[in-house]
Amino acid sequence: MLSIKYIKKTKIIKMNILKNYINGTWVESASNQTIDVLNPASQEVLAKVPYGVDTGKDVVMATESASRAFKEWRNVPVMKRVQVLYQLKSLLEKDSDTLAEIITNESGKTLAESAGEIQRAIENVEVACGTPMLMAGDIIEDIATGVDEMMIRQPIGVSACITPFNFPGMIVFWFLPYAIATGNSFIVKPSEKVPLTMMKIFELIDQLDIPKGLLSLVHGGKDSVDAILEHPEIKAISFVGSTPVARYIYSKGTANGKRVQAQGGAKNPVLVLPDADIEMSSKIIADSVYGCAGQRCLAASIIITVGDSKGVIKDAIYEAVKSRTTGYGLDKGIDMGPVITPESKSRIEGLIQTGIDEGANLLLDGRNASITGFENGNFLSPTILENVALDKELIKTEIFGPVMSLISMNAIEDALKFVNGGNYGNMACLFTTSGASARKFRNEANAGNIGINIGVAAPMAQFPFSGWKDSFFGDLHGQGKHAIEFFTQTKVVIERWPKTWSRKF
Ligand code: NAD
Repeated sequence: MLSIKYIKKTKIIKMNILKNYINGTWVESASNQTIDVLNPASQEVLAKVPYGVDTGKDVVMATESASRAFKEWRNVPVMKRVQVLYQLKSLLEKDSDTLAEIITNESGKTLAESAGEIQRAIENVEVACGTPMLMAGDIIEDIATGVDEMMIRQPIGVSACITPFNFPGMIVFWFLPYAIATGNSFIVKPSEKVPLTMMKIFELIDQLDIPKGLLSLVHGGKDSVDAILEHPEIKAISFVGSTPVARYIYSKGTANGKRVQAQGGAKNPVLVLPDADIEMSSKIIADSVYGCAGQRCLAASIIITVGDSKGVIKDAIYEAVKSRTTGYGLDKGIDMGPVITPESKSRIEGLIQTGIDEGANLLLDGRNASITGFENGNFLSPTILENVALDKELIKTEIFGPVMSLISMNAIEDALKFVNGGNYGNMACLFTTSGASARKFRNEANAGNIGINIGVAAPMAQFPFSGWKDSFFGDLHGQGKHAIEFFTQTKVVIERWPKTWSRKF
């Protein structure tokens, strides 16, 4: 039984307090406290989500049933475990339109962006279907006479993920399919700002033939996260969110003996060399900066024109950006939706003003955007600031909104020095037609995800979603083989079987 219902355009008509999904059933939270889930385009209250200190009790309950499920599930053959993923893939595909509408209504992004997000989630399920091959171990026969040595991978136990608001559907899937395919049980704690997509996904999970407690959904904010960090039965935590919280989760989780992977924030630079294809580059850059209203950890934030390309590129980027339309994500012809909260909108507007105060030139002002019919929405239009001073706040702070800082440098070496001097290391991109420059950049740029003539270097599910410096804490990332390794522990077995023991029957 679900506490929300969906009708056309995913309007949620029963505005109940959201339930948790624990031990294979929908249960009320132990907490009486709630906060509102708002549509960022309208401020309409979509639902109420449990919040506050008692949500920690929900985590304890979910962990108890997850521990029981783990004991059963780890003994299910891997070929059988992945059958559940095939089932999940087809359920996600069947409901992908509904899921995309929910994502748009709670996060604000456009319907096309939401559909793309669900597609990326499904691709992770597909890759995890290869777990019977991906989790294979190694064996050396006769490493010494009559002695064989092997390495096998076993599941780690109860695992949990804590996710941010900007991809309510996709990010959980960097972890969930790999966790269960390798034999673990898994608890999801979505962002309290966007819990509805996971409600729908767990409605689908409820149809799977899996042990009760294998997959759980618990709501809340810091209190439920702290309960995850404290619970001794939770062995692995996957986190994605801002850098201060990532740092906190990594240090507290590892201090409590857990395996932790924590993706943090970003401030992504993009270089344009004079030999770049200007028209193509500017369109891609505009999409990179303003797609998802700039609320992507892989959004380009600082555009660096190198050498004598400055004027031409500036004009081309301006042309590509100024025609972009802002509005409600379910409406047709919209390129960009609102940002997540009114606080977020005023923070971004404040940062634009800081940039101006610090001496930048405001080329395009996206403040005070007003959308007819959505006057209460958190809308901003694309903003471009040029000549932003390199030592000032705007260049260092993650804006997480539709704002481009346009700067110029004399040579690729200067730009690389700037890229490598930043605190973050999530993504760096280069636009060029020179193979040698591309190779130099790939080799020398200190970032986990590199794009060459690509504006959003988002790794596909086969590859780890990387990140360096303050953008990642841990060793193994989400997706692909890294996820398989994260959710398994290696065991080395050495066996002696002397030939003289062979009996003749
Ligand atoms: P956030 O850090 O505020 O929240 C993320 C999660 O942590 C949520 O589930 C939230 O409930 C929980 N949380 C928040 N404050 C907490 C606290 N003090 N203690 C414990 N838990 C807490 O992030 P957000 O605003 O939801 O998401 C935006 C951020 O996520 C941006 O910085 C963005 O760059 C980053 N992000 C990074 C990646 C990546 O792959 N590196 C991907 C997506 C988003």
